[in-house]
Amino acid sequence: MSLFASNTVTEDLQLVVVAVERAVDRSPDGLTYALPTSLAHLPDGARVEVPLGRGETPTAGWIVRHLPATEDPGIPRDKIKPILAQDPSGVVLPSELMQFARWISAYYACPIGMTLASILPAAVRKAIGRVERTLVDLAPSLEGLAKITKKQQHALDVLATLPRPIELPDLAEAAGYSTNEPLKRLIASGHLVATKKTAVEAGFIARAGNVAPAPTPTAEQQAAITAISRDFGQFAQHLVFGVTGSGKTEIYIRLLEECVRRGKRAILLVPEISLTPQTVGRIAARLTSAKVAVLHSGLTDAQRNQQWTLLCEGGADVVVGARSAIFAPIPDGSLGLVVVDEEHEPGYKQDSAPRYHGRDAAIRRAQLAKCPVVLGSATPSLESWMNAVERRISTLHRLTKRAPGLNTPKVAVVDFGAERREIRDRRVNLIGPTLREAMQKAFADDGQVLLLLNRRGYANYIACSDQRCQWKFTCTDCDAGMVCHVDESGAARRSYVRCHHCLSEQLLPKNCPDCGKPVTVFGLGTQRVEEELTRLFPSLIEGDTLLRIDGDTMQTAQHFHDALERFGKGEIRCLMGTQMIAKGLDFPNVRLVGVVSADTALALPDFRAGERTFQLVSQVSGRAGRGEKAGRAIIQSFEPETPAIRLAALHDFEQFATLELADRKSFGLPPYRRLARLIVRHPGETACAERSAELAAAIRSFSGGVEVRGPSVCPIARIAGKYRRQIELLAESPAEISRVLAEARTRGLLKLGEELAVDVDAIAAL
Ligand code: ADP
Ligand code: ZN
Ligand code: ZN
Repeated sequence: MSLFASNTVTEDLQLVVVAVERAVDRSPDGLTYALPTSLAHLPDGARVEVPLGRGETPTAGWIVRHLPATEDPGIPRDKIKPILAQDPSGVVLPSELMQFARWISAYYACPIGMTLASILPAAVRKAIGRVERTLVDLAPSLEGLAKITKKQQHALDVLATLPRPIELPDLAEAAGYSTNEPLKRLIASGHLVATKKTAVEAGFIARAGNVAPAPTPTAEQQAAITAISRDFGQFAQHLVFGVTGSGKTEIYIRLLEECVRRGKRAILLVPEISLTPQTVGRIAARLTSAKVAVLHSGLTDAQRNQQWTLLCEGGADVVVGARSAIFAPIPDGSLGLVVVDEEHEPGYKQDSAPRYHGRDAAIRRAQLAKCPVVLGSATPSLESWMNAVERRISTLHRLTKRAPGLNTPKVAVVDFGAERREIRDRRVNLIGPTLREAMQKAFADDGQVLLLLNRRGYANYIACSDQRCQWKFTCTDCDAGMVCHVDESGAARRSYVRCHHCLSEQLLPKNCPDCGKPVTVFGLGTQRVEEELTRLFPSLIEGDTLLRIDGDTMQTAQHFHDALERFGKGEIRCLMGTQMIAKGLDFPNVRLVGVVSADTALALPDFRAGERTFQLVSQVSGRAGRGEKAGRAIIQSFEPETPAIRLAALHDFEQFATLELADRKSFGLPPYRRLARLIVRHPGETACAERSAELAAAIRSFSGGVEVRGPSVCPIARIAGKYRRQIELLAESPAEISRVLAEARTRGLLKLGEELAVDVDAIAAL
C-alpha cells in the first residue's frame, strides 16, 4: 500500500496532467496527478517529479494541463497520486513555449514529455554553474541596534545613494573595502538586511566584434526592410532571396534593431557552422542598444545555463543561435520577430526525436507569437521558393546585386573527365591543370584559396586489385563501404579504414583476404587532396600555410574558430575541406574557390541530390570575390552539363528552381506533397521485414487519402548491425499526414526508440 494512496490526501486537490519524459506514450495527453497543497501554485510548464508505475519510481515530467473541477479525470480519485516535488532547477516554461511544444509534439509525432525534455538543455536541468548570491539593503530602522564604527557608517551612507538591493561584493567595492567581512558584520548586527538570490554565472555574453559603421541600405535592401517592418505585430512570412554578399545580414540587423526599438524580442537562427565569433560579433557590435544572448554547441554547460536563464528572466533582447534556439524561453507576449538565415540548410533538421525542422518550426513559432518570420537564402529550399512564387503565402524580396564593393565571382565548370585524359602524370588525380594554374595565379597575386571536397578521409573505395576477384572492403555491421584514412599523428604514417556510419575502425589490409593479391584504394577524400596539394605546391606546408578542415580535424568548435582566425590573418594560404568551409565565411582576400568534385552530392540516392549540388556549388562560389579584387571559382565535374552544376555556375537559381519544381511535380514529390518516413530497425533481417510489413498493413487500414509506400529496404540496408526498412507516407497536406500519425499513436503503433523512428518532412534518404 502506497503512502499516498489514501483518498483523504488527494480529495480536494487540484488535478493536473503530467507528461513524463520517459517514452511511455499510451495516452498522448499524459497521466493525471494531484497537486499537493505545498505545490498548489505550480502552473503549466513546471517540471516536476511524479511517482510512476507500480514501483512508484520517481520520474521527471511536466505539468501540461490543469484539469477543471468539472472534468472527469477518467480514473477514480483514490487512485490518483500526488506529485512528489518540483524539479530543483525550478524551471517553468512560458506558456507560449508550452503551446509551441504541443505543436512540435503533434506534428512530429513525438510524445509531449520527450519533446519537453529535449527543449530543456541538460545544463539547465542539472543547474550547472548555478551560484547563490547575497543581496543587501538598509535595515528599515536602526532603533536598538549596537553602535558602529565610522568606517561601517560610511558603508551605510554609500548604500543610501545606490540602487538597492545590491550585491554584497558590489557594495564592498563602492565603499572601498577590500573584503566583504565588514559588511557581513553589519548583517550580523542587523544594520543591513540580506537576501539570497540564485543566479547562473558564467561570465559570458556575445562579444562585440570590430565592425565597420552601418552602411546605408541600397534601394533593394530598403524596400525589403520597409515591407517587412510593416508586418510587425502580425504573422507574415517573408523570403529574402539574394546571392551571398548581397546584404541579407544587413537587412536582418536593421529588422532586429527595429524590433528591439519597439520593445519586443527576436530570435535569429543561423546554421551551427556559421555561428562563428565573426557572425555573432558582427551582430552584437551593430546592436549596441540590445542585449544579445547566444546559444550553440560551442558553449560550456555553465554558459548555456547562464544564457538560457538570462532569456527566461527576460534579460536578453535578441538570441542568436543554432537550430535549438527556436525553443528559446522568451517571456510570453514579447517575441516580435523570427529570422532564419540560410533557411535551406539541411542542418536545421534534428536527427533524433523530435525530428523537427528548425525553419518550419520557426514559421510556426512566429505564427503562435503573431509576429513576422523572415527566411533568407541565396539558394532557397524548393519548399520556401514554392511558398513564395507559386502559393504566394510568403512575400518574396529579391536582392539582385551584390552589396556595393563586392564582385560577382566568375565561375567556370571544368570537364574533369576530358582533363584527366590529357594528364600524363599518373600521380595527378584530383587537381586538374585548369584549377592548378588558377591556384598558382592566385598565390602569385598574394591571394588566398579555398578548396572544397565534400568527402572526408583518404579514399572511399577499397578493393582487390584483381578485377576478376570482386572483393570490396565493406563494414561487417553496415551495408556500406569502408573509407580509408591516413593517420599521420604518430611517428610512422599508418593507414586504417573506418566506417562512416558506425565509426568502427580496422587496419588497412595489404592483401585481398579472398585471393591474396594486393589491395588498392581509390576514390576521393580530403586527405588525398591534401597530399596532392603539397606535391603540386611546395610552398604549401600542411598545418602551416595549408590547413585541412573537416569533421576529422575539427573536433571542437574551438578548433574551427582558431583555424578561421589564422586564415583571416593570412597565415594560412590555402584552406581545404568539406562543406564546413562552404558556408558563411567572409574573407576579403579569397581570390579563388575550387571545387575538387561537384559530383559527390549528385551520387546520393536522394531526390534532393540536384538541389543539394546546386546549393553547394553556389554557396562555395560565393566565398570568392568578397574583397576589392575580383574572385574566381573553378568547379571540376565529370558531369558538367548537369543542370544543377551548369546553372549554379551561371548563378541562375530561378531557372534551376523552375526545372526542379517541374520534376518534383511530375513525380508527386515534396514540396508538392508532404512526406513522412517511418524507419523500422531490428538486428534480425526477418524480424525487421515482418515488423515493417505489419506496421504498414496496420497503417493502411486507416490511411484514407494518404498514400502508404512500402515497406522497402532503406538505401543503407543495415547500420551498426541493425537492418532497416522504411514506410513512406505521402499526402497533399500536412494535416492528412498528422491525422494518420496521430491515429497510429493512439493505437500504440508508434513507440519511438531503437526500433522505430518517425521522420516527418524527412530531408535525407539514408
Ligand atoms: P549576405 O548576408 O547576403 O551574405 P551581408 O549582409 O553579409 O550579405 O553583406 C555583405 C557585405 O557587404 C558585408 O561586409 C556588409 O557589411 C556589406 N554591405 C551590406 N549592405 C551594404 C550596403 N548597403 N552598402 C555597403 N556595404 C554593404
Ligand atoms: Zn559500419
Ligand atoms: Zn582478391
